[in-house]
Amino acid sequence: TQYVFRFGGGVSDGDETVRGNKNLLGGKGANLDGMASIGLPVPPGFTITTEMCTAYYANGQTFPESVRAEVAGGIAHIEQVTGKSFGDPANPLLVSVRSGARVSMPGMMDTVLNLGLNDATVEGLATSSGDPRFAWDSYRRFIQMYADVVLELDHGAFEEALEVAKEDQGYYLDTELSADDLKALVATYKKLVEAEWGKPFPQDVHDQLWGAVGAVFGSWESDRAKVYRRLNNIPGDWGTAVNVQAMVFGNMGETSATGVAFTRDPATGENAYYGEYLINAQGEDVVAGIRTPQYLTKAARERAGAKPLSMEEAMPGVYAELARVFEILETHYRDMQDIEFTVEREKLWMLQTRSGKRTAKAALKIAVDMAEAGLISTDEAVLRVDPMALDQLLHPTLDPNAPRDVLTSGLPASPGAASGKIVFDADTAERFNDMGESVILVRIETSPEDIHGMHAAKGILTARGGMTSHAAVVARGMGRPCVSGAGSLQIDAAARVLRIAGRTLTEGDILTLDGSTGEVMAGEVPTLQPELVGDFGTLMVWADAGRRMKVRANAETPLDAQTARDFGAEGIGLCRTEHMFFDASRITAVRQMILAEDEKGRRAALDKLLPEQRKDFTAIFEVMAGLPVTIRLLDPPLHEFLPHQESEFAEVAEAAGVGVEVLKQRAAELHEFNPMLGHRGCRLGVTYPEIYEMQARAIFEAACALDVAPVPEIMIPLVGTKRELELMKEVVDKAAEAVFAEQGKRIEYLVGTMIELPRAALMADEIAEVGSFFSFGTNDLTQTTLGVSRDDAARFLTHYVDKGIYARDPFVSLDVEGVGQLIDIAATKGKATRPDIKLGICGEHGGDPASIAFCEKVGLDYVSASPYRVPIARLAAAQAAL
Ligand code: ADP
Ligand code: MG
Ligand code: MG
Repeated sequence: TQYVFRFGGGVSDGDETVRGNKNLLGGKGANLDGMASIGLPVPPGFTITTEMCTAYYANGQTFPESVRAEVAGGIAHIEQVTGKSFGDPANPLLVSVRSGARVSMPGMMDTVLNLGLNDATVEGLATSSGDPRFAWDSYRRFIQMYADVVLELDHGAFEEALEVAKEDQGYYLDTELSADDLKALVATYKKLVEAEWGKPFPQDVHDQLWGAVGAVFGSWESDRAKVYRRLNNIPGDWGTAVNVQAMVFGNMGETSATGVAFTRDPATGENAYYGEYLINAQGEDVVAGIRTPQYLTKAARERAGAKPLSMEEAMPGVYAELARVFEILETHYRDMQDIEFTVEREKLWMLQTRSGKRTAKAALKIAVDMAEAGLISTDEAVLRVDPMALDQLLHPTLDPNAPRDVLTSGLPASPGAASGKIVFDADTAERFNDMGESVILVRIETSPEDIHGMHAAKGILTARGGMTSHAAVVARGMGRPCVSGAGSLQIDAAARVLRIAGRTLTEGDILTLDGSTGEVMAGEVPTLQPELVGDFGTLMVWADAGRRMKVRANAETPLDAQTARDFGAEGIGLCRTEHMFFDASRITAVRQMILAEDEKGRRAALDKLLPEQRKDFTAIFEVMAGLPVTIRLLDPPLHEFLPHQESEFAEVAEAAGVGVEVLKQRAAELHEFNPMLGHRGCRLGVTYPEIYEMQARAIFEAACALDVAPVPEIMIPLVGTKRELELMKEVVDKAAEAVFAEQGKRIEYLVGTMIELPRAALMADEIAEVGSFFSFGTNDLTQTTLGVSRDDAARFLTHYVDKGIYARDPFVSLDVEGVGQLIDIAATKGKATRPDIKLGICGEHGGDPASIAFCEKVGLDYVSASPYRVPIARLAAAQAAL
């Protein structure tokens, strides 16, 4: 195996399988070779491959003999191109040793510069450069870096010695130290190394080189690197490459410099060069903050009102050359580039290029600009933008320039920012909202009874609960910012007091939430509104052209439905009906229905609900104007509608017109140990068919009364057997016939089911004989397949993810291997029975790009996501199809 590949000086080793191969050469190495190959000025060097790293660990951290010869060949290449020689006191070659994994990875070894200096070569460098100060400065930098990153000695001691040297002379800046001062400092450094390391600083340049190469490979298994890999899902067997490259010097006086730049503005995406540079500096001085860097362009300097000349003004010739390189790089790599460069005595050298990190806003603008300029295709533009990043753009954001008084932070449960008065219960939230006040609802945790308050609130803050808690899921669905699980909150709802970080806030005090970061702030922080036109609109048009699956929304109010349509939803994939029952004007009738002793009593209560429910559907159908609407009949167990707290019993009993004892007894009867698997879903419809009958009637009455009627898709929840669906379909069909007879009009409709039990997935062929559509309810399907209840999972799931048992939270991103198999089986079996069966997904996963890619693969017809995720789903569905 060849482990060393040379670049620069007109040489580029390797065939087409090696060129640009980041897996083999690492990102840095591949692009150094790439830049050199297109004729850009790159100091010559060589890359030791990632395969060597893997082999190094496989062989008990040793190098095979063949590699020594290959590295020697690499050094000879650099010597030949530069005309200098490694370790030669007369004309010494210095190199940098740089790590470079496939992806940029903080946690890896830092770069060692100026390697090849020793007591003899430093003199040679002084003579050959004609600048002893520069030579001794390079030597002291080298010892300091080598001691830090290769020998891993305490760098504090070296920094202290530098400070002492400056103080002794009464200097302020490093640059004030003279050659003699630096020479003395080198002596001090060497003593420090010997004292701490027990051996003298290595004088043999080959020992120096192998020490640094070994340190790069060693750093692959450092704790820092391992932690970073785990957090970013980077496999441990990728390994890192090592780049050895001739030094060029930005610290050779006033005509030398070093800098970093982006070919476009990474914050806004504006097509203008962006960067910083420092005269007479080396390496990472620019980012280290020792001196304040200067602007790259005149425009940026003027905009900032800064004095020190920009590179464009101070070094116009080199700047023009740099600008030319920027253009070549963008055309070659067809993306915005993040660049490191050095100027040595007015000669420009390129030291690194890579695709630059950018904000969501910049990603969008750059993709659209590049496609419009013909640099990339529109499909590529669609593929360039991370769908999840759109989330940042679809919600109001905090003005980044406004001051913030951060109190604490919790989980970023639902994105967006909002300010409002603190309230501690849903009713107060609603009351304040009716008076035109903005409120933030603060709860220990939320439950279905809080829905109206969550709707009325601008934002929701909870002390308990994870990213998939009730508060988080509902808030995301409504597009309300939410911070959940802010553990340091002490909420005294009775006293209407909130304590955070030693501060006490009361009802009516203003709070600001940033649901995108989880920050909780005192007072109001101004926000910026999202822009859904312009680049966003353009990219969405391209995405829609590329996708196969339809995108629907989960919505149950006309407002949600309208939001969903504004975001481009092509229908409603899940209209949950239970939330309608919690409405203050109906909950009493719902409770009367639950408390009724017989069917007659239930029907009397249901009759009161019918007109209300009809109004719900009419309003939603009107907004959806003929687009498909999937309505799920009542799903949750009935006890959810009854009071839980002693204090509420009397009030509820009185409103419902029953005795407190009757209410308490019924509540006790309905208590369930595991409500997730209890008396819910179609099990309610089987025992109380009149409930579903009322709901179906409301749907048909609403649809018949409209000119532009949708084709209602009536969905029966929690079906496990064909017979259940058959019975429920009979109830629906009967209601339909009754309404059609009354109205003298027929409309089309479908009856189908949610697939949320493993049995249903396995028996899908049979179930499809009755149901004409399946909607995968992946929240419950995940719970029932994994045997994990979502509400209890927060306590242990993070450990599961940390330990790699699940790659990601299976309630956030579909467990493709397990749950996905059931979906695949159900889809295949369903189609076998009924080739035109409609297949969709309506769980939280319908808005998760990885899960959406899976849905494309198994051939679903649509995904349904919460309204604010609709654009994300549109983009992800397009990416999955392209
Ligand atoms: P990182 O991955 O942390 O950016 P690099 O390997 O890019 O580390 O090195 C950091 C900096 O060191 C570079 O930006 C560059 O300024 C400097 N550097 C690296 N190699 C050389 C070299 N051969 N000549 C001059 N400076 C170099
Ligand atoms: Mg670095
Ligand atoms: Mg770099």
